Amino acid sequence: MHPDDMRKALEAIGHILKRFAEPRLRESLGPAYMETLALQTNGRVMRQLPPDPSVLCRVLISRWDESFSQSADDQVLDLVHAVRKARDRHSHFVTTFTDEDRRHAIGAMRLLAIKLEGPSAAAEFDVLLGTRLTSDGPAGQSKAKAPHSSGYLDPEGLTAEQVQGRKLLCPACKEPIFKSWSSGWDGHAGHRCEGLSIQRPPLGDPAARKAEFKRRFRHLFR
Ligand SMILES: [Zn+2]
Repeated sequence: MHPDDMRKALEAIGHILKRFAEPRLRESLGPAYMETLALQTNGRVMRQLPPDPSVLCRVLISRWDESFSQSADDQVLDLVHAVRKARDRHSHFVTTFTDEDRRHAIGAMRLLAIKLEGPSAAAEFDVLLGTRLTSDGPAGQSKAKAPHSSGYLDPEGLTAEQVQGRKLLCPACKEPIFKSWSSGWDGHAGHRCEGLSIQRPPLGDPAARKAEFKRRFRHLFR
């Protein structure tokens, strides 16, 4: 992976974040939202949002409750934090930012892009990751096109007690996966889930994917 790939990915996610943020800021803060934000560059107040992921992540995080929480879930906020951290580490510690770091960071940006603009937004990041998914590959097949089957419970906002043994949408990818939660979670999280920031094997490590899943959805396990 070329070090320049990180810059390209940041550029791409910057435009996606800007498209997401602008209308929502305008709606919640009014047309003079740039004055309210009072973002500065070189001592001058910016007139419009730059497609700079660093600035945009900062705005999303600081204005999350009032401007963005209505139209995006907590996973988006988690990913915004992850992208911001990766971007900072990349710019401050560029010499120690490894290929693995880049891959992980671009994976998080890819997922954030999908969450904000749908599956087609992944394409740019897939090219950088060298894992362009084809519609006839196993990844394409697993992408359920059908609407979520009724009877599958969305675990969003629920507790372990409420979901134990139920038919459950995967809390990460929201596909109807679990016939009796939490049975089979490790196989899905390790190998198949498309809702994690770590790539699917062989690029990503199944153990790290399981750890991410367990960490994010600890509250759904007894
Ligand atoms: Zn999943």
